[in-house]
Amino acid sequence: MSALIIGHKNPDTDSIIAALAAADLYTQRGLEVEAVAQGTPAPETAFVLERFGLKAPAVVTSVAGRDVYAVDYSDLGQAPSDFSDCNLKGIIDHHKLGDMTSSSPVECVIMPVGCTNTIIKRMYDYLGKKPSKELAGAMLCAILSDTVIFKSPTCTEADRAAAAELAEIAGVADIKALGMELFTAKSAVKGVAARDLILRDFKDFTMSGKKIGIGQLELVDLSLLEDRFAELLEDLGRMKAEGRHTAMLLVTDIMKEGSVLLMASDDPAKVASAWGKTLGEGNLWLEGVMSRKKQVVPNLEKVFKD
Ligand code: MG
Ligand code: MG
Ligand code: MG
Repeated sequence: MSALIIGHKNPDTDSIIAALAAADLYTQRGLEVEAVAQGTPAPETAFVLERFGLKAPAVVTSVAGRDVYAVDYSDLGQAPSDFSDCNLKGIIDHHKLGDMTSSSPVECVIMPVGCTNTIIKRMYDYLGKKPSKELAGAMLCAILSDTVIFKSPTCTEADRAAAAELAEIAGVADIKALGMELFTAKSAVKGVAARDLILRDFKDFTMSGKKIGIGQLELVDLSLLEDRFAELLEDLGRMKAEGRHTAMLLVTDIMKEGSVLLMASDDPAKVASAWGKTLGEGNLWLEGVMSRKKQVVPNLEKVFKD
């Protein structure tokens, strides 16, 4: 049976395209692999697949007994629930090291760059291989998505360089215009249920034994969603009641370069203090905060340790 290459829960563009790209690269290396995903594509990813004529990976939620490569995560909380019964073969990732372990030697490529697809481009280079035009276009979109068109503090020179090289292969002349198209597709929120919006890009973390759920929506304009903040807060309250200490949603305005923090928490003052804020009237605006990985998770881990 072929090995599975699988991204994280609530798959984003990077985790789905990374699985497709890694499957292509590993196939070129002579390995028997198959790209899969833990869910169907969100609107942004659907745009990317359609734009570059690629097929969505099959949805797989059980990996027991299978050989598995994880892409775009190494946290068990973001893996299929029976992950401890699979044979972990490798990890490609750009997040903090998680709690996955293995029973045999693994191939891990983990680097502090803005996107898993940046790492995979470097792996292609290292092995003297090249992605197809279509795959290169999709990989470029994954980099644009994860780095918020190079604006996120997670973006590195390696991401810019990989994006330029992929654009060349894909025949994309205007990278930033493609980025705006991508985020316009991502901003599709009209008529979508509150829970689906919260879960679109949602991750649970454990901090000092407490379950903290953090969702993020990146929009080209906050006003697309402002009239639904009350409804979202109400649903975050229900998600908190499902066994979380805190359920939060960052609504990021990629043009204004900051985020509104909506939350339901057992200790909202403590959460707000992670950015030096006190609770007042209205919504919390976090100026310059665009990255969950760099500006949200570490801040929260710090206040929850005290
Ligand atoms: Mg991801
Ligand atoms: Mg990523
Ligand atoms: Mg992201």
